[in-house]
Amino acid sequence: MELSKPTQVLDSLATHGDMMSHEHDSAATATGKRAPRYQSHSLDECITNLSTPRGPKPVLKSMVTTACERNCFYCPFRAGRSKMARVTFTPDAMAGAFDTLVRAKKVDGLFLSSGIIKGSVTTQDKLIDTVQIVRRKYNYRGYVHLKVMPGIERDQLAHMMRIADRVSVNLEAPTEQRLAALAPKKEFLRELLQMLRWANEIRAADPHQKWASTVTQFVVGAVGDTDLELLSLSENLYRQLGLARVYYSAFSPVSDTPLENVSAASATRQRRLYQASFLLRDYGWSVEDLGFAGSGFLPENVDPKRAYADAVLRSAPIDLQIADREQLMRVPHIGPKAVERLLKARQQARIVDLTQLRALGISRPEDLAPYVLLDGRRPPQQLALFPGA
Ligand code: SF4
Repeated sequence: MELSKPTQVLDSLATHGDMMSHEHDSAATATGKRAPRYQSHSLDECITNLSTPRGPKPVLKSMVTTACERNCFYCPFRAGRSKMARVTFTPDAMAGAFDTLVRAKKVDGLFLSSGIIKGSVTTQDKLIDTVQIVRRKYNYRGYVHLKVMPGIERDQLAHMMRIADRVSVNLEAPTEQRLAALAPKKEFLRELLQMLRWANEIRAADPHQKWASTVTQFVVGAVGDTDLELLSLSENLYRQLGLARVYYSAFSPVSDTPLENVSAASATRQRRLYQASFLLRDYGWSVEDLGFAGSGFLPENVDPKRAYADAVLRSAPIDLQIADREQLMRVPHIGPKAVERLLKARQQARIVDLTQLRALGISRPEDLAPYVLLDGRRPPQQLALFPGA
């Protein structure tokens, strides 16, 4: 069923109950909560508060069509799944519905995805057309995130990177073999990784142009993928292809799909992956610094930074007075901002007491005691040092 009027789109979003996105809510996923349901039952469920590069925004998440000719094993929209109602919006109707919601101040951002019908290139053009109308006819200058269909043309990608703030190329799996087990009609190198390579080349060819940032997403835990595989590729994506963010989506089985009897992946595993990924992206860590328990998985009972500190820093503590930026980033509870404050503060006065760290925004400095030296000496480790903490 193709809907061609904005009011039909709004009715469908609000009452039809089948408009959705299989993309992630980054705020929820990074904290280890489950991904949102695949089918919405009210308009509000299509609006998600997202942390965007322009700050937190209520974003309309929708698909241009819920029909798809591919058959990814984990996906509720896969071809032949009879339980899924299929609805298609024309670009005009989708853009008009979005404009109505913007004017009503219900949303300030658009996240547009789609199933694939008549090939990726044709489908991608529909997403591009929608955003062109949003930008030109409705003069919307706010946040737009576009999903890249697998195997589109380079010119389409460059165009998308001009009109959107963010584009996502979901790799889904960390290797060709894992992808074959998840989504046999997707080609890892040619259709997915190549898109990310092109995005990086497009940015590098004209660094003064404002380009959309690039992100990706993995489905975690359905086909034997290890944390080591996921994080090794994540590190390369951050370092070599300039990705802004990697999302990890704990697998959750969908009825009437080939993976319906596979167990759901652990939400704690998902959270540990995010924590490790931020260490790779923001703290200068490499995958070798992460403590994989032989099997290629991070321990779930402790966050990766604490695991490193317990394994390494208890016997080789870091001297807060002389350590460099990279070393300071290894200490639990010290993040990039605290490091900058600490580097500045120690030029003014020696750090001789953990309580001095409170003024630098480190809320529980007593927790640092096993891992640091103050003035060359280990600080006392009793919690009683900080009554009321
Ligand atoms: S391409 Fe795969 S993941 Fe995307 S909508 Fe179709 S079946 Fe789902």
